[in-house]
Amino acid sequence: MPVAFLGHGSPMNALEHNRYTDAWRSFGASLGRPRAILVISAHWYTNATAVTAMARPRVIHDFYGFPDKLFAFDYPAPGAPEVAAEIAEIAKPTWVGLDNDSWGLDHGTWSVLAHAFPDADVPVVQLSINANEPVDYHLELGRRLAPLREQGVLVIGSGNVVHNLRGIDWSRPEAGFDWAERFDDATRLVMQEDPGSIARLIEHRDAPRAVPTPDHFLPLVYIAGIAAGAAELPEVLVDGYAFGSLSMTSYMVGAPPPA
Ligand code: ZN
Repeated sequence: MPVAFLGHGSPMNALEHNRYTDAWRSFGASLGRPRAILVISAHWYTNATAVTAMARPRVIHDFYGFPDKLFAFDYPAPGAPEVAAEIAEIAKPTWVGLDNDSWGLDHGTWSVLAHAFPDADVPVVQLSINANEPVDYHLELGRRLAPLREQGVLVIGSGNVVHNLRGIDWSRPEAGFDWAERFDDATRLVMQEDPGSIARLIEHRDAPRAVPTPDHFLPLVYIAGIAAGAAELPEVLVDGYAFGSLSMTSYMVGAPPPA
């Protein structure tokens, strides 16, 4: 099974159709049916490492100020308690808690799966991002998740390489600031040459503006970890910028990009 990092952007992408959502749709359509999907979403950024383990995960609308139709959006995919248990097992000695009643599917997950798997019939689990841990912890945990690919589990990181909400410029819906483009380009170089060295991007001069908080960047670190462990180089699935301070670049590892 390939793995992917999808740059999710605005929650409204769940309802919209544009070249990003088209790329996510082509990606999903290019795959055989996964046994389950594991999503590492920027929006479950918390103080522990946990995996959703309930049979019926709730759909979380974790945002404010969007239209009612987005709050009404449903993605009724089942959970996969047995896959959650497998993840806790392969992550050892890293401890992964089984979450039976706390989280569910947040918009980092359903805004992209709405397009990649529109029927919502493949079981989905989410892995939280432990905010207390350094980049190397996430890279190593990503490496350990790699065997899931052979178990028919599709692993998706959902975030944005460049994500600075304070820097948003509504007059630039499809453009990036120069610092955003520099950081996204530098990330592409690392991903395509040596994904295992992704932690060095922290030292990039534009990192403080491009990644003011780590939540949207860390899902990419998991995908870099899997790629490094498999000695496979990611390909760009789709790229672009939104509102100056977001990059929408998506990567996939392990299969050619869909035509
Ligand atoms: Zn987000």
